Amino acid sequence: MVLERAAPAAAGPLRAAARQPETPGPGMLLLRVAACGVCRTDLQLCEGDIALRRSPIVPGHQIVGRVEAVGDGVAGWRAGERAGVAWLASTCGVCAMCRSGRENLCARATFTGWDVDGGYATHALVRADFALRLPDRFDDVAAAPLLCGGVIGYRSLARSGIEPGGRLGLYGFGASALITLQVARHRGCRVFVAIRSTAEQERARALGAEWAGGYDERPPEALDAAITFAPSGDVVRAALRAVDRGATVAINAIHLDRLPEMPYEELWWERRLASVANFTRADAVDFLAVAAQIPVRTSFETHPLADANVALTRLSRGEVDGAAVLVP
Ligand SMILES: [Zn+2]
Ligand SMILES: [Zn+2]
Repeated sequence: MVLERAAPAAAGPLRAAARQPETPGPGMLLLRVAACGVCRTDLQLCEGDIALRRSPIVPGHQIVGRVEAVGDGVAGWRAGERAGVAWLASTCGVCAMCRSGRENLCARATFTGWDVDGGYATHALVRADFALRLPDRFDDVAAAPLLCGGVIGYRSLARSGIEPGGRLGLYGFGASALITLQVARHRGCRVFVAIRSTAEQERARALGAEWAGGYDERPPEALDAAITFAPSGDVVRAALRAVDRGATVAINAIHLDRLPEMPYEELWWERRLASVANFTRADAVDFLAVAAQIPVRTSFETHPLADANVALTRLSRGEVDGAAVLVP
């Protein structure tokens, strides 16, 4: 399914195209895709909130597949093995960021489904050293939503500075927050969820949130940290008002509508706003191990690959229960 021009999801920006799978070059793997998660970033790309970097492009960066062919010089992967591929498609490996364990900030990084074709396809060509081993505990469809929302949520926890037992706010409650809540509970954190929908508030409580309310409600106690998931500056501001002195609000969003003007008092007392950009391979490896240990439960709905526009439309309308996953 290729994207040439952004359009509202309901107008069907993706169209089916037939292509021969390529032979993997040196260092590359050809995967036969078994499942690919549908991320909000895909929706933002398809609808034009995030600019296209290449056209046409095959979106999709939560790929679970089987190795079908192995390029020259690849060590550690064999045909038939299961592999996961996430947002980070490649990094330069030599810049200051790459050399200091911050490859997520590499200025020459490329991204799956944005710079290189992704997983809304029957096959995907990926760099072998960016492919991930997936825990056996998760089947193909269950593993897919872990590969973006799960890992970025995990990195957001680190960026928020929350400590075991701390009071953590989650602002927004989609696929990523659902997983982050489970990791936070596993660490003994007390979790407070803000989300508009009362059905989602109920779901948050069922998953162990101590409190759930609307964005404009104040949690019963000041929070030690918060993570925002909604692409809304107003939600960031609501989170900032709910955190204690010295606390961080980590913004888990590649795209935010705007950063609202606010009185400096809301940031004063060493409160911090932190963005969360991508994640490193080490984040992914650590998260997948923790996810298997908990074990994290994801809820998802599957759609045939040809119905990618339907899945995007459901996501844009807030109708997806958990995460949408495409199956070729
Ligand atoms: Zn994503
Ligand atoms: Zn680099």
